[in-house]
Amino acid sequence: MSPAPLTDRHGRTHRSLRISIVDKCDLRCTYCMPEDQRFLPREELMTRAEIAAIARLFVEHYGVTKVRLTGGEPLVRPDAVDIVRDLSALGVSLGLTTNAMSLDKHLDDLIDAGLGSINISLDTFDAERFRRITRRDGFGRVRANIGLALQRGLRVKVNTVVMRGVNDDELLRFVELTREHPVHVRFIEFMPFAGNRWGRERVYTHAEMLGHIGSVHSFEKLDDDPHSTAKAYRVPGWPGTFAVISTVTEPFCSGCDRLRLTAEGRMRNCLFAREETDLLSAFRRGEDIAPLIEANVLAKQAMLGGLPPFRPERQQDVLHDLSVRPMVSIGG
Ligand code: SAM
Ligand code: SF4
Repeated sequence: MSPAPLTDRHGRTHRSLRISIVDKCDLRCTYCMPEDQRFLPREELMTRAEIAAIARLFVEHYGVTKVRLTGGEPLVRPDAVDIVRDLSALGVSLGLTTNAMSLDKHLDDLIDAGLGSINISLDTFDAERFRRITRRDGFGRVRANIGLALQRGLRVKVNTVVMRGVNDDELLRFVELTREHPVHVRFIEFMPFAGNRWGRERVYTHAEMLGHIGSVHSFEKLDDDPHSTAKAYRVPGWPGTFAVISTVTEPFCSGCDRLRLTAEGRMRNCLFAREETDLLSAFRRGEDIAPLIEANVLAKQAMLGGLPPFRPERQQDVLHDLSVRPMVSIGG
């Protein structure tokens, strides 16, 4: 029997699933985790077996073809490699998003378990600035681990949240990385989430980024996958690429095919969703979770989880309050 596609009321079919496997983290990035963040007790997290079973339903019953593991920091979970092994056996395109603080300890096992691509977050090339942004030391380790992942032949994307007055002066250094390595740098516009002191004036926009880079390099536009969140570019002749994820100034909701599962097994149909569906409790009671999944997808809003567009003239505090969770507990 062929899988039943998960199509929402706006006609979008969903084939991509982000699974947060833990809400804890070994960094505390200011844009992601509030200082007083509380973490879930272990028994509330999905177990390895529950993650595998729920993911299998999405893949085999609903035709999901892409799964990305995230968190919190996925590699702080002791069974992260086993989870990668379980999910790669489902035959999906499997990725992992990590801060790479402990990647060297797990890299060979992750590759052996079937991981082919990795997204590594790095916002600066300055060790002191790294400490201010993440509230921890670790620049040297993360930088070295990006090199290690490239050396081992993984497809590496580097995620950089660009914040005005914080790291917007480092864009060209990141573009330089695409001359040095076949790496895919993705500049992410700073997004509003609970407790991250977002303000529209702190968003360094897609247009500003291109203007800044274009003042030094000529670059060309690359074709984007219809479901891609990133608009990709390349300096001709350089082995890597760079892209911009312009959620704030140019949302890409019409092509969105993503669904999310939080670490405690709640399904979210959008990063900015106000509603969640508790799949794990129903699963633990032995109930059929398929109707819950289908209802969640059907309820998906056309844009930004129903938030108004992030226009500069809007009252920013309103947007800030509208985000129900910090990013660390959603799973980006
Ligand atoms: N700990 C892992 C990491 O940092 O890569 C995975 C989880 S983290 C929540 C996933 C991604 O979300 C990271 O690339 C991070 O930079 C991004 N992110 C977190 N808060 C953000 C925000 N306010 N705006 C834009 N991106 C954000
Ligand atoms: Fe942790 Fe990643 Fe959030 Fe930074 S962005 S606090 S590394 S989950």
